[in-house]
Amino acid sequence: MADSKDGSGSKFQAATNAVHLGRAPFDQHGFVNTPVYRGSTVLYPSLAKLTSRDQAYTYGRRGTPTTRALEDALCEFEGGSSAILTSSGLSAVATALLAFVQTGDHLLIVDSVYQPTRIFCDRMLSKLGVTTTYYDANIGGGIAQLFQPNTRLVLVESPGSQTFEMQDIPAIAAATRARNIWLIADNTWASPLFCKPLALGADVSIQAATKYVVGHADAMLGAVITNARAANHLDAAKEALGTCPGSEETYLALRGLRTLDVRLARHMASGLAVAQWLDARSEVARVLHPALPTHPGHSIWQRDFSGASGLFSVILKPASETKLAALLDGLTLFGMGYSWGGFESLVIPFDPSSYRTAMPWREAGPALRFHIGLEAVDDLLADLEAGFNRMAAAGD
Ligand SMILES: *Cc1c(COP(=O)(O)O)cnc(C)c1O
Repeated sequence: MADSKDGSGSKFQAATNAVHLGRAPFDQHGFVNTPVYRGSTVLYPSLAKLTSRDQAYTYGRRGTPTTRALEDALCEFEGGSSAILTSSGLSAVATALLAFVQTGDHLLIVDSVYQPTRIFCDRMLSKLGVTTTYYDANIGGGIAQLFQPNTRLVLVESPGSQTFEMQDIPAIAAATRARNIWLIADNTWASPLFCKPLALGADVSIQAATKYVVGHADAMLGAVITNARAANHLDAAKEALGTCPGSEETYLALRGLRTLDVRLARHMASGLAVAQWLDARSEVARVLHPALPTHPGHSIWQRDFSGASGLFSVILKPASETKLAALLDGLTLFGMGYSWGGFESLVIPFDPSSYRTAMPWREAGPALRFHIGLEAVDDLLADLEAGFNRMAAAGD
């Protein structure tokens, strides 16, 4: 289905799809939004139907009209042939990995992967006799040199969590295809809008829908979108694991989807404006934002992505804990907290030095990850400027 120019399966542009996908008003008395179907039991009209299970919905865990609407919409957005929903982004990652691995397998995962994905591999998959090698995000087609006879899959996340290294997905896909190895992409940063991993050669695309699809910091949800050859594996894993999303959460994601295109345009523009402003500050050593021309992965971003979300990081010049606290503690518009993708701006400090293995983190100064929300840029800049002033005034 991935035959349109933008890599989605649709003839319409993203803004139109965001509004219209996953809706069938005249199946529900003309009401515009797909309603929340809550349900476990689904009734069958006859013994024959019960025995054959020959109807669209068979049990709440297996799907409702609400969940199917979102699955269909995300599938079309990412140019997939099938999608499943899970209770969180991390459960989408875990379900996708469990769908493919068996005892004795070896996995290749980018070193800048979302850290809880790493914990799932090191803590849970290791118990099943599955080993994981973390590789340098810049490896590209060189990934083939890390293939072992038992390598089952590669998991890319581009840009990387917190540190925003870009990965050459087409080059990695060429290598995995040649060896019949599965390629999974965590596509959360780009949202379903700005990158189409399946068109770039991945078999599976994961969305932590908690982030931009829900978009309002009010629900947890995950999605796994697959091409035709991977679809049966995900369906079987979902069935066996009992993975299913909440009905209300699914509704909130459908609702978030309607404004995804306009929200992301604003996240992108404001994110770039704040990133450029930070880049010019004397307190900042480096800005890690793939849409900035100075980013080492900028050409990959230009080639493979059609936009940027509002999430990026900066590395400050060395500063004491007291100075860092002076900067962060008085911010009034930036919240400090985990997750992102909502309408609000956020900032957190991070330090990957304790767990990265292939790309040791050796930055001297503190690192901050920003999520730029939908506030006015000038207000955000004034908040940050006041923070830098507090930082300058604070002692060491
Ligand atoms: C947040 C995130 C997840 C996990 O999503 P949750 O819904 O918080 O479980 C997975 N991958 C990436 C890249 C994320 O940023």
